[in-house]
Amino acid sequence: MPELREDPWTGRWVLIAAERSQRPHDGGSRAHAAWTRSSAPQAAGRSCPFCPGHEEKTPPETFRAGAADLERLEGSADVGAEPPGEGPWQVRVVPNLYPMVRSEVGPEPLSWGGRARVPAFGMHEVIIETPEHQTPFQQLSLEDRRLILAVLRQRLAAHYQDKRLEQVILFKNWGKEAGASLEHPHGQLVALPWVPPAIRRELVRSREHHRETGRCLLCTIVEEELEDGSRVVAADEAMVLLAPFASGSPYEVWLVPRRHGARFEASSEAEREALARWLGWLLERVEGLLGPVAYNWVLHTAPRVGRGFLEGEALEQGYHWHLEFRPRVSTPAGFEWGAGVDVNVVAPEQAAAWLRETAKEAGMGARPAPPPAR
Ligand SMILES: [Zn+2]
Ligand SMILES: [Zn+2]
Ligand SMILES: [Zn+2]
Repeated sequence: MPELREDPWTGRWVLIAAERSQRPHDGGSRAHAAWTRSSAPQAAGRSCPFCPGHEEKTPPETFRAGAADLERLEGSADVGAEPPGEGPWQVRVVPNLYPMVRSEVGPEPLSWGGRARVPAFGMHEVIIETPEHQTPFQQLSLEDRRLILAVLRQRLAAHYQDKRLEQVILFKNWGKEAGASLEHPHGQLVALPWVPPAIRRELVRSREHHRETGRCLLCTIVEEELEDGSRVVAADEAMVLLAPFASGSPYEVWLVPRRHGARFEASSEAEREALARWLGWLLERVEGLLGPVAYNWVLHTAPRVGRGFLEGEALEQGYHWHLEFRPRVSTPAGFEWGAGVDVNVVAPEQAAAWLRETAKEAGMGARPAPPPAR
């Protein structure tokens, strides 16, 4: 029976309509291969602006880090102020050549309602994850994955030192169906002078819950999910992987730090290590289940100030950073667009069960038992 669900965290409505699809890895979804891996690495990399040796094809870099910089970045007491590394790069940050927002147009006050219209001010950067054109995230060493997260954190904190900026969105598009125009593994950062709607919705719901209970909404949700267990994909002492109650698309998974924290830039080294490990694990599991698949992830972290939505102590206590992951196995169509309701053909309970099962089949060990809720 199709089921209508409201997500407690995002407030979105989703139709879970499992009978509209068979088990996705029984066929069909392989057509969504992220990139054809047939092209020879050299041929693929020859014209790639992100490959080593082509550094002059990008705008001047804003940051770089080599393997030797991991310790320095992780041990930094002044996050966001670290100078770039000086050696050969492992991770490189450059301004987007085709930015969706521009730094030179200055922030102008945005008045809401009617036909609000101002120049789109902000920063748009590309984070080149590795010099290796054909090595996806999950095949990088744990240290290389940790370095990517350390650089993301540095850029996030660096932009939050700019008082004109209010929200940083970190995200990754992998594969053509997910919107990536270049094959070379890269993430992106967009820094905005305002809080965009997706974060605003989470802040407003968090504010309600914090006012009513004095607690963080996502902490409450994670506790309930660990108790229930049916949507828990994996968990350890640092991180919980959940298929959200009203997953908007098949195999949507959220990676949520178990310890409360509003800001990724203030996360602990152990949490970032866990995120690097679990994100690689998840990508392997999803690929094991669906074959090579395009995906997006987005890192949601507290705005710099949060004025008007959730601010000060309430923001620090009431908001909770997390990473939302969606493989691109379905295409939103007319109903989704017209009704503003996602239709998801794989129930999150089923998605979580299959991801746990795939882990077992692949010899990765059973899902670590979630520790009892507090
Ligand atoms: Zn390349
Ligand atoms: Zn929390
Ligand atoms: Zn979110």
